[in-house]
Amino acid sequence: MALGLYISVPFCRTKCSFCNFASDVFSKSAYENYVARLLEDIANSHQLSSGLGCVREEIADSVYLGGGTPSILESAQLLRIFEVVREKFEITPDAEITVECAPSTLTPALIETLQQCGVNRVSLGVQSFVDQEAKSVGRLHKRVTVLEEITRLREAGLDNINIDLIAGLPYQTAESWAFSVSETIATGVPHASVYMLEVDDESRLGSELIAGGARYHAHFVPDDDATADFYQQACDMLQASGMAQYEISNFARRGFESRHNLKYWTRQPYLGFGVDAHSLLYRQGERRASSPVQTGTLARSQDNGTGARENIEIEAESCLAIRFATPDSLEAYMNRVPLTVAPVSEQAAIEESFFLGLRLNRGLDLEALSFLEVYKQESQESAVWESAIRDCVRDGLLERQGTTVRLTAQGRLLSNEVFARFLVEEKGETKWEPAT
Ligand code: SF4
Repeated sequence: MALGLYISVPFCRTKCSFCNFASDVFSKSAYENYVARLLEDIANSHQLSSGLGCVREEIADSVYLGGGTPSILESAQLLRIFEVVREKFEITPDAEITVECAPSTLTPALIETLQQCGVNRVSLGVQSFVDQEAKSVGRLHKRVTVLEEITRLREAGLDNINIDLIAGLPYQTAESWAFSVSETIATGVPHASVYMLEVDDESRLGSELIAGGARYHAHFVPDDDATADFYQQACDMLQASGMAQYEISNFARRGFESRHNLKYWTRQPYLGFGVDAHSLLYRQGERRASSPVQTGTLARSQDNGTGARENIEIEAESCLAIRFATPDSLEAYMNRVPLTVAPVSEQAAIEESFFLGLRLNRGLDLEALSFLEVYKQESQESAVWESAIRDCVRDGLLERQGTTVRLTAQGRLLSNEVFARFLVEEKGETKWEPAT
């Protein structure tokens, strides 16, 4: 199965108050070293994959440049990234190639560069079409700029466009939110993503809300119930306009679902490069195998608590796949802090199938899990999953049709609560660095 490639660019012009991504404002001088490191990792990905005992497909049918603000890079840097990607992977002619762009950066020169790179999908972090709301969280664009840029993209033939919106921004009201959703529909873009504001201590606005303070316009943030209503309102408006909801946060006209993101939710293999980039690769002979094969051991290096690293070996005989992630800060990434590695056992694969597969409106076909021994057996784990399904159906969070289970509208609002019910135990993680 073809790979998805994710490339992270952790640079932004300003840091939005709600943002909990591993991105920040850095001087332009940092860009060049970062791109050089990225290219090195892309070039070495074969070696990395085989070091982990995984299959690295040669063919990729999706490339996603996210972050951060990839469109902040110089044209020459973007061109070099795509040149090396094409050198090291076979990119299919129909590949979906997405770049996330901050509105107000889409100059004619940038659009020309994107086309030279083969980009055929642009994701715009609009968040709100109401200027006061966008400004309150540190966005630098105005509504009129977004509309001009969408026109410019279309004139250049780039009409596969996504618009991101956030429900729950400061100053948002039911009317202003309806305006943002209507404007999104009126642009005629084929894809929209709607997120509810995440309140956690990873963002300045989230921390302020948790502390009950008033900085970052926190006291103008709508309450949780209003935000949930906004989300439901967007679902209704977008569906009525012909953009079908296919995932908790994603809506598309037929044929415009994001191929790249579908790989995450359906557990297809993908490789991530750059800061805070995640990967999933399957072990040799796995993925559709009826039972795990002996795969020996993984040699890793682990922090022994003193800052020094010691070599350990972990049995990986029941490991179907490996998830791994790069460090989540630019400094740690540039200093080559080891990868975080988590082997995916049969049990973990099933848990992932629930909490990723249930994100999709089409739901999860339980038949697809039946090749895994731990699911077929009368085990403690399978009893937990079965009773979680029964309880969620009873509570109106899931519906079951034949062998398929899917979230109800209420279940989509409370999805994290649903997913937590399918977790049997915590998975172990460790650090790993490729042999040099
Ligand atoms: S929301 Fe996007 S543009 Fe804003 S700081 Fe985060 S990554 Fe950068």
